[in-house]
Amino acid sequence: MKKNFHLATLFNIPIEINYSWFIILGLIVFSLAQGYFPYTDPELDISAHWLMAFISALLLFASLLAHELSHSVVAARNKLPIHGITLFVFGGVAHLEKEPASPDVEFKMALAGPLMSFTLALAFFGLAKVFGWLGIPKPFISITNYLLLLNLVVGIFNLIPGFPLDGGRILRAALWNFYQDVRKATAIASALGKAFAFLLIAVGFLELITGSLISGIWLIFIGLFLQEAADTSYRQVAMKKLLSGIRVGSFMTKNVITVPADIPLDRLIDEFFFKYRHASFPVIEEDKLLGLITLHDVKDIPREKWGETAAKTIMAPINKKLITSKETDALDALAKLAGNGIGRLLVIEDQKLIGIVSQRDIMRLFQFKAEIEG
Ligand SMILES: [Zn+2]
Repeated sequence: MKKNFHLATLFNIPIEINYSWFIILGLIVFSLAQGYFPYTDPELDISAHWLMAFISALLLFASLLAHELSHSVVAARNKLPIHGITLFVFGGVAHLEKEPASPDVEFKMALAGPLMSFTLALAFFGLAKVFGWLGIPKPFISITNYLLLLNLVVGIFNLIPGFPLDGGRILRAALWNFYQDVRKATAIASALGKAFAFLLIAVGFLELITGSLISGIWLIFIGLFLQEAADTSYRQVAMKKLLSGIRVGSFMTKNVITVPADIPLDRLIDEFFFKYRHASFPVIEEDKLLGLITLHDVKDIPREKWGETAAKTIMAPINKKLITSKETDALDALAKLAGNGIGRLLVIEDQKLIGIVSQRDIMRLFQFKAEIEG
């Protein structure tokens, strides 16, 4: 299932909404209509409260979008290409094609978002005042006040120094500048991010127990999101640092076990899959590499036909997604592996098979490097 919904393209940047956002939207509208507006405007009826809640949620959404766009504009100005923006719970994620090249680019980029939120808060504050002087009906002022408050909250929340929140990025920029080591800086900033996420989850459970259902769910939700984000973004940075410059040829498995093209599936199972317990084997005919056969391919064929079906008739024929060269960077190989759905890459030289790499090989290499270099 696709996790994101494409909304629009602004300034050449595709804007996507994570489906989780629709749950959040529902939660926001519900808590506004049932709790917040009945409290600020008790004289209005329930349908007015729902309408106000809906308008406020949409304007909040626009505010979050402005926050993310401001990050993206600064990134673009510093020649960092942006794939797109995905809106999540309390803000969003701008997809950078690469990480900022220097601490001061990171600093400027991170600061832009909260600055935008504070500017919006100030604007809504001014608007509420103007509405007051003009004698505009009170529900409009209530909505404006809510947006003033929420933009303030978003600005402050994002300044919390836990990576990958904006505050965490600012902290990382400072640490990066200090240690001159982006991985170390990311490790510290994302550990703080995780600690903060656990704190949110713990407080959320406490609220659940004491009966504040909605705010409890809110906090747990945001905490879980943050924790995962902190984990993934650290892993990305660490992998990039540890794996870049390592060539496939230096860690591939060299003595590859191959299978003959004409072998029937029943023998293939007994003599290869069962014996070596690999998930796939390259298929060879007279020294020539034809393709790759996986256990999955075999399982798709009814058992009674195994004796009469040859490996080459059901294998995946050799194609660009399956092959690589020994000069390829480990990181690029990993990206290709993640996309090909088989988890294996055949290493080819002069049209001959010289090795094989699996996703597991690269993960092991990463763990090994991480242990050595701490
Ligand atoms: Zn931000």
